[in-house]
Amino acid sequence: MVSSPIQNVRGFGDVLPSEGPAWAFVEQTFRRELERYGYAEVRLPIVEKTELFSRAIGEVTDIVEKEMYTFIDRNGDSLTLRPEGTAGCVRAALQRGLLHNAQPRLWYSGPMFRHERPQKGRYRQFHQVGAEAFGVPGPDIDAELILLSGRILRALGVRDLRLEINSLGTQAARQRYREALIEHFQAHSSTLDDDAQRRLHSNPLRVLDSKNPAMASVIEAAPDLADYLDEESQTHFQSLCDMLDGAGQSYRVNTRLVRGLDYYGGTVFEWISADLGAQGTVLAGGRYDVLVEMIGGRPTPAIGFAAGLERLVALVEAANSAPSAPAPDAALVISDDSLQSDTLALAERLRDELPWLHLQMPLGGGSMKSQLRRANRSGAAVALIRGAEEAAAETISVKYLRDDLEQETVAIGELPKILSALQANRTGQY
Ligand code: ATP
Ligand code: MG
Repeated sequence: MVSSPIQNVRGFGDVLPSEGPAWAFVEQTFRRELERYGYAEVRLPIVEKTELFSRAIGEVTDIVEKEMYTFIDRNGDSLTLRPEGTAGCVRAALQRGLLHNAQPRLWYSGPMFRHERPQKGRYRQFHQVGAEAFGVPGPDIDAELILLSGRILRALGVRDLRLEINSLGTQAARQRYREALIEHFQAHSSTLDDDAQRRLHSNPLRVLDSKNPAMASVIEAAPDLADYLDEESQTHFQSLCDMLDGAGQSYRVNTRLVRGLDYYGGTVFEWISADLGAQGTVLAGGRYDVLVEMIGGRPTPAIGFAAGLERLVALVEAANSAPSAPAPDAALVISDDSLQSDTLALAERLRDELPWLHLQMPLGGGSMKSQLRRANRSGAAVALIRGAEEAAAETISVKYLRDDLEQETVAIGELPKILSALQANRTGQY
């Protein structure tokens, strides 16, 4: 009996070779720009204690209530595949003493896990790049982080993104706002869905974040957080707006922007694409001045963002803005298998001598005709042909696959010079 092939787990995708260049472009762009602003890379574990997330993200949030991959390991400990990176980053920064008399700026990249309904732009394993800046209380770091995120998105060549910003105020301001919200939603309790009913008293701000279209109008009519902001938050937010104006960064103030995690307070922002439908947010962040203390450290102001790479890769592919993978400079072709061994050695010598050389061997052999066909398809500029004659005479035949030039037979020692000239010519064409 032939068994059926095993499939992937739903929502856990593969990145295929055709998507490789766009992924590399996105990741390299984040790394380059983050380093220019002084962010240092940290690599964090994928598994943390469940308690870290329930404490940091909040018990009454989508993530903690229904999206976490939580399991009991063989020791009986409750562990969770990270649904986001900030909590683990704060945990590591505290535990390793990085916050001691320092204002670190950290970034990381990797897979996150949420048990959501898979659809375009929403997966169960997805990837984020996150950046976190600790110890700076003022609006200057908010502005710089937003400008940095804008610079990255521009460098990626993705267009039609809008920046939305808001201030969630202090905890005291949100407390007053909560009461007004509860009153408003109670007056419309028949239109609230089950989630909203349940959260009405425990976490009414979450109701604003609902994506249920049936609740859109009651959310629209809700009181405005801006009317409850404390003076300090107002001043902070106004300075942020002034700094963005001064730097020529356009934005829209969206007083309904609340973010889905409890640790946010003060400045929040999102970059939203018009081209991705409901899954339009590609990069989102904000201040979380209370989180370090919640995880057991001293009060430490902090702000960060996380970008969803699948959504950005989709936009990069649509905009065709990633450089394509380079074609090989040369492909070797041999007339029979007895030449394999010293052709392999020749290829290694060429790679030693020309560190930039992208050289393809005829692995798997076949007739010269099929090797040449493969060389052609690979996009290689030249085929380097070794037949019995060439092998005996220590020469090699250079067949130009892209240029209208005669095939020539040269001494093997001449090859580095010829390949270098070819390379100089090709880079000159860009
Ligand atoms: P959304 O409102 O789209 O559910 P969120 O508020 O849950 O987003 P964050 O926790 O702020 O998202 O994560 C930051 C970014 O990570 C999102 O803006 C998005 O680009 C990406 N992201 C979040 N969840 C997923 C997912 N399940 N699949 C793919 N990307 C995701
Ligand atoms: Mg979500």
